[in-house]
Parts: sequence; C-alpha cells; structure tokens
Amino acid sequence: MSQEPQIDNISARVKHIVKYREVVNYGSRFGLIVMTRDGRFLEVNHTILEDTGMSLDDLVDKYVVEMPWWSHSLETHHQIREVMERAMRGETVRFDIRVFPRPDFYRDVDVTIMPFLDSTRQGEYLIWTGFDVTERKRLEDEKHFLIDAIPTIIWTARPDGFVDYLNKQWSNYTLTSIEQSRGDGWSECVHPDDRQKALANWYRMVHTGEPGENEYRLRNGITGEYRWFLVYTIPIRDTEGNIAGWCGTCTDNHDKKMTEVALRVRELQFRTLFDANIIGIGITDIYGHVWEANDAYLQMLGSTREDMNRGEVRWDQLTPPEYLERDEKAIQELRESGTCHPYEKEYQRPDGKRVPVVVGTALFDKESGKTISFIVDITARKELEKRKDEFISLASHELKTPITSLKMLIQFLRRRVQREGDKRTNYDLIRMELQVDALKRLIDDLLNVSKIQMGLFSYEDEILDPDKVLHETIEILQPMLSDHMLILHGHLHHVLVCDQQRFTQVVTNLVTNAVKYSPEAHEVDIFLSESERWVCIKVCDHGVGIPAPQREKIFERFNRGAYGTSEKAFPGLGMGLYITYEIVTHYHGSITVESEEGKGSTFTVYFPFAQQT
Ligand code: ADP
Repeated sequence: MSQEPQIDNISARVKHIVKYREVVNYGSRFGLIVMTRDGRFLEVNHTILEDTGMSLDDLVDKYVVEMPWWSHSLETHHQIREVMERAMRGETVRFDIRVFPRPDFYRDVDVTIMPFLDSTRQGEYLIWTGFDVTERKRLEDEKHFLIDAIPTIIWTARPDGFVDYLNKQWSNYTLTSIEQSRGDGWSECVHPDDRQKALANWYRMVHTGEPGENEYRLRNGITGEYRWFLVYTIPIRDTEGNIAGWCGTCTDNHDKKMTEVALRVRELQFRTLFDANIIGIGITDIYGHVWEANDAYLQMLGSTREDMNRGEVRWDQLTPPEYLERDEKAIQELRESGTCHPYEKEYQRPDGKRVPVVVGTALFDKESGKTISFIVDITARKELEKRKDEFISLASHELKTPITSLKMLIQFLRRRVQREGDKRTNYDLIRMELQVDALKRLIDDLLNVSKIQMGLFSYEDEILDPDKVLHETIEILQPMLSDHMLILHGHLHHVLVCDQQRFTQVVTNLVTNAVKYSPEAHEVDIFLSESERWVCIKVCDHGVGIPAPQREKIFERFNRGAYGTSEKAFPGLGMGLYITYEIVTHYHGSITVESEEGKGSTFTVYFPFAQQT
C-alpha cells in the first residue's frame, strides 16, 4: 500500500514530538498516543502504558480501534471507529469517552485527536491526547442524579454555550435523548417560529455573561403539541468570578400565557370599542375620580385629556347637586351587586352648560372601588321629549276650551229640554255629558302630566278631613258605577294638611282603576286605618291582577303595564298612577301594590301627617 506511511520514516519525524515524553509523563493523568494516519500506534506515553499494563512493543503497529479498551460496549466501539475515521480524514476531533484500559477499571477521558497534515492536507500522523476526567464525570453524574430528581426541566451548559446536560424531565417531555439535545440540538424541540430568537437570545447571554429570561414554545414529544415555557438562565461562576458554566430551568407557563393572550384579545376588543368613541367610556371610581376616558366621555364632561392626566376631572364635581342622591343610590347598588342599572342624570360642564346623559356603571375592583362607566349623550332625545311635552301641554289647552263650551252648551240644552218635558232628548244629553266628562278628564290628566314634567304642577294645601273627603268622593263615584259596589271599611279621625283636589285625585284614580280592571267582580273594598304618624288607604279589587314584571313600571309615565295603548278591553293612556305617585311622594307618603294575577290587586297609600312639603 503505497500511500501508507512507512513506520520508520514517520518514527523519525515524530521523534522530536515525543522526545519530551519524559516531561509529559510527569503530567499526572495525561495520555498521549502518536498514531499513523491509518490509526496504528507509533508512540504512547507512560500513563497509557501504566494504565494498560502493556509495553510499547506490545502496542506499536497495532490498530488503535482494535484494542480491547473500548470493546466493553458496542456504542463506545462505534464511537471510536467513527472519530478515528474523521481524524484520519484530517479533522480535529474532540470527544468524551469511557475506556477500560484493563477489564477491572475504567477512566473517563476527554480526548482530542489532532491530525498532522502533509502538503496534500492529508493526515500524516495523528496525535491523541487524553485527559482523565473520571473524577469530574463522577461529580457530574452525582450532580445529574440530583438534577434528575427535580421535577422541572433543568439543563447545564459549558461556558461557551454548549449545552452538555439536560435532565430526565427534558427527555420525558420532548422524547429526545440527551445526546440528540446536546450542543444546540435542544433547539430542534423549539417551535420553528421561536427557534432563531431562542438561539440568538441564548448566545447573547453567553456573550454578555448576564442571567436572563427567555420564552419559547417546546414540542411535547408525545402529543406533538407546542407549549410555552419560561426559560430562566444563570451563569455559574468559580471562586475567581469567571463563568464556569451555565444552568437553566424551563417552566411550563403555557396556561398562564394563554390566559394572558386571551386577556390581550379581550383588551383589544374593549380598546376597539373604547377608541371608537360611539359612546363615552371611562375608567372611574365610586369616589368621583376619572382615571381614564375616551374622547367622547371627556367631550361630554367638557374636559380635556390634560385635565384628566392632572387628576382634575372628577365626575362628582361635575354633577349638579340634585343628582348626587341618585348617584349615591347607584353606588349603593354597585357595592351590592357589582353593576347599576343605567339611569338618567346631568353633568354640568365647567363652561356651565348642562348635558343630559344616561349612565351605566360596573364595579371591577371592589377594593379600590374602580368602575367602568359608559355615558350616552341624550340631549337630542331630551329636546324631542321637551317638544313633545310642550305639544301635549299646548294641545290639551287648546282642547280644553271647546270641551268646556261643549259641556256648557249640553247643560243649557238639558235645562231647555227638561222644561219642555222631552225625556228622550234629556236622556241622550245626559249620555253626551258623560262622554264629554270622560274627554275632559283625559284632557285634564294630559295637562297634569305635562305640568308635572315642567315642574308646574301646583298644590294648594289646606286643613282637610280625609274621612269626610273620602266618603264624599265615594258618594260621587258610586252612582256612575252600575256593576260595582264601593265598600268603605273603617274611619279616619285625624286631619291632614293637603290639597283637597289632589287628595281626591289619588282616591279617584285608584278606585276607578280598581273598577276598570275587575270587570267580572262586583265589589271594590276600601280599607281605612291610621296611626300616630299616618293615614292609610287600601284599595282592594278582585280583578285581573298585575303580572310581577310590570308591578314596578306601572307608576311610570305612559306605562300601561301589560296593556298597550291600543288595548280595547282596558282603555287608558297610563297617566293615572303616574299622577297619583307624584302627588303621594310630594306629601312624603308612599304607594305600593300587591297583586296576584287573576285574583286582584291591592294599592296601599300612606299619607304622613303634617310633613313639611
Ligand atoms: P291606565 O289605567 O290609563 O292604563 P294607570 O296609570 O292608571 O293608567 O295605570 C297604569 C297601568 O297599571 C294600567 O295600564 C294597568 O296595566 C295597571 N293597573 C293599574 N291599576 C290596576 C288594577 N287595579 N288592576 C290591574 N292593573 C292595574
């Protein structure tokens, strides 16, 4: 084989390398082998001879790969063949290997095989240097044993960033072996989208020597799913402060991350609504602060973002005093249930202009009282309502005059036909008058409602005997009712300071409703009672009753509860109870309703004595 180097020749050329063998032999656990480029022994140092118990003559010319030192395991055998082949091709190879110089003991060796090249860049001969790292390996094994016992992924790396160990948790999760993951092999388990960043961050840390945090997705070897991990890395320093290695942990924070992502999406959705400025949205608190707000909100309050950032925008200070009580009620509701039903109020801007709004609020942090509020400007709606009220007021005024004239004319005609003894025409005129009275009552109610709306509903208080007024009212009403009997129970002895017309209005409204909504019944009971502080009137019918969801609403203006305005069986416009409520609360009294569908309703009114109105 002409290419094979001649042993004698080479021997001569390497003599100068090994002439310091004696010196080298003093190095404690340092093995040196000089080989031909096809892997046969030329020279070995003292350590190797001592360990193997062989002489130089035993070894010279033998093939290194054929020594029994690595034949204890097939894997090691393959490893030595592989590295030798690489070295023979001219590559410098460095590797760790466990060798058995004699069957009864082993050494872990950190080996470098370095080819000495000829002019054709082929390996002319190979120098093997091996450092005994048995003790270090033993310590490492101990360390790995401990690391494996920790139930989180832990890895270690050399100072240059070469990952040299990953614990069992890593292999269990990624289903990759330590061998596959060593060096940069671990990055194969990182999500392709995160891989480049993960490696760059890692080597930046290695370069700067600073500890750090990284976040990337690692593939679960069993399910194939990628989960987010938080990777925390610290340098390990020796006594001189030099970096002796690295250590890191990988903690599964997928669920937290997913929650964060979901939160961010939700925040984005909210932000979109916030920035759209369709309605005013603000982060406020129950103590009056406005912490953050969109432009629409600030505009309604007549404030600027700069005012807000300086902490100068307070919704309570921009609220006119008459709404503070309503706000208190809303805060109470917030404290109890976390939200408050939207309600109407006004803000008074710094320039004095009042803005009517609908406010809705939800409490999102009980401890700090922080809330999220929306406000909608209802100026346009309020103006429309005002115009409607003005129209109703005007229309009812206009209607009142001809109705009054009509009534007078009917009465004039009746007197004439009575004188002439025309009974039939008289009867027809009585029926006409009844219709005109009904029309007049309707117009009066319309007028009353618009007066209440405009704050013009007047009261003329006097000392009044409620018992007497009640009896008289019933006496007037009874003849108009053909099917119902009004039965008064009990008496009242106290006097009230009250407007008689308004008091009569309350009783009339309740009694006429009781009759209207009990077409099948024949009686309406009115119970009277009193205490030291109030008189109580209960109007009790045996009629259709009121469905529960409607009971609160029937005191609102134009609210007909279960019936629309087109209702034929029970005609009406939803004004009577609104006016009644207004009168009762004007006198600091109360009105409540108890009802059972199909059985009847009881309206209870309390009038307190001598309350300052
Ligand atoms: P109206 O009777 O003209 O509709 P009201 O303001 O007097 O207006 O009453 C409001 C609503 O309350 C009525 O439409 C009806 O649904 C309900 N209501 C009032 N009184 C009674 C009653 N005694 N029984 C049943 N429902 C009643």
